[in-house]
Amino acid sequence: MRQNIEKIKREAEERIDKAQNEKDLKELQIKFLGRRQGEITQILRNMKNLPFEDRPIIGKLINELKEEIEKKLREKRNEIIKEEGKEGEESIDITLPGKRIPLGRLHPITQTIEEIKRIFIGLGFQIVRGPELETEYYNFEALNMPRYHPARDEQDSFYINDTHLLRTQTSPVQIRVMEKKGPPIRIIAPGKCYRRDAIDASHFPMFHQVEGLAVDENVTFSDLKGSLAYFVHQMFGKDTRLRFRPSFFPFTEPSAEVDISCIMCKGKGCRVCSGKGWLEILGAGMVDPEVFKNVNYDTEKYQGFAFGMGVERICMLKYGIDDIRLLFQNDLRFLKQF
Ligand SMILES: [Zn+2]
Repeated sequence: MRQNIEKIKREAEERIDKAQNEKDLKELQIKFLGRRQGEITQILRNMKNLPFEDRPIIGKLINELKEEIEKKLREKRNEIIKEEGKEGEESIDITLPGKRIPLGRLHPITQTIEEIKRIFIGLGFQIVRGPELETEYYNFEALNMPRYHPARDEQDSFYINDTHLLRTQTSPVQIRVMEKKGPPIRIIAPGKCYRRDAIDASHFPMFHQVEGLAVDENVTFSDLKGSLAYFVHQMFGKDTRLRFRPSFFPFTEPSAEVDISCIMCKGKGCRVCSGKGWLEILGAGMVDPEVFKNVNYDTEKYQGFAFGMGVERICMLKYGIDDIRLLFQNDLRFLKQF
């Protein structure tokens, strides 16, 4: 029995010495001191086989052994904790630079749309959206472009089937809004449009427009001019001048193309404005009564103005981008600049 106790003592000392971590110590604690299968428990169970007079002596030895193992485990545990703490300190090098978290940013097109929205919301306009897949009716007919209207040929479209196409403009949203509610209306409709254009520095088959529409009693061409002047001054600065040139659109009468003084050369003439000093930025006009008839508005009582602008064009002018293709190549070196 004594030999057995000595043997356990040696083994325990040896193994506790070799323990590497908390987990090793836990296992040793269970192995030697465990209540059910621990070595000491098993010796205690054998006590009943000893002669009666030996029991107190052996019992004392076993208690001492138990205390010794507990002490050893405690010491080793403290040692390990100390050691780990030291290593922890050494593994943190506070002179290393911090990790940089990559920040995303908004695409310049999105930024431009947000800016346009902000300006028109300030004028009391609401933001609406319409479907990109349109019917011929909304994309053409309701906008005063009947089947054989020349403007329909001009717009080489992406047809999905005989009656549906990818919208060539955001103007169909005007019709969808007016069908649902009566005047007064003040909306802008940003979104994607599609035309079968060959890709070059200023054309892309997918592009963005913002459509605007205001309908009420006593709306005049002056209201249109005032709203667009406010927009241009907010977008390009107070010194930017505007010019309205007579033009033609099937769904407005009268119609105008709106130019701004070149923001690069301030009107002197440069490469961007082809030496003219002016840049065309949008089309606008008073809503043609024929369009109002299609949505059952009283053409005697109500007037309206509408405008449409190309977001890519405005974005390129605002940020000095000279090729539309840059906007859609997803080159981070380009996109990081905005
Ligand atoms: Zn210029």
